[in-house]
Amino acid sequence: MKIICIGRNYVDHIKELDNEKPSEPVVFLKPDSAILLKQHPFVIPEFSNDVHHEIEILIKINKVGKYIEPKFAHNYYDEIGLGIDFTARDLQTKLKENGLPWEKAKAFDGSAVIGDFLSKKDFSSLENINFELHTNNKVVQKGNTSHMIWKIDELIAHVSQYFTLKKGDIIFTGTPSGVAAVKPNDILEGYIEQTKLLRIQVK
Ligand code: ZN
Repeated sequence: MKIICIGRNYVDHIKELDNEKPSEPVVFLKPDSAILLKQHPFVIPEFSNDVHHEIEILIKINKVGKYIEPKFAHNYYDEIGLGIDFTARDLQTKLKENGLPWEKAKAFDGSAVIGDFLSKKDFSSLENINFELHTNNKVVQKGNTSHMIWKIDELIAHVSQYFTLKKGDIIFTGTPSGVAAVKPNDILEGYIEQTKLLRIQVK
């Protein structure tokens, strides 16, 4: 399986990082080795002093598809989940300054937290889903899918022009504002509406 990530999909987050609003989705990949194993803590890697949490809505692809039209994209997923795109911000900044790819800052071991999934039937509208990240019981990120620049079906249509989607692939759909560094002993908990879908300890 592969993990496809979308960057800069919420205006408030683009502003907090002082990035430009892109004219089409920013896309990058993480390998399956980036997945943080269930029940394992997230260990801050030695090469960074500034690893940020990015809470994101996830889509799990349910069948193979390429050149998917937006109006058919809803047939390619049944489940919505929650995850964290851990980002070594100091390293990413350096790579960006030099015009280099982001992978070392974005796709390292443990950088992809994949929480539990909910059936999309549980939602009356996928374009109005509230989600939150709590650090040590305090709300640090709060998002709603209505604020996505590109909606879920538009993202599937876009990325499937470049990458054949396969059953089990996961799409990370971008983070709202509030990204910040994690530190040892932090407890991160992610919610969609009232349901807790992930809990991570930082080491
Ligand atoms: Zn992200």
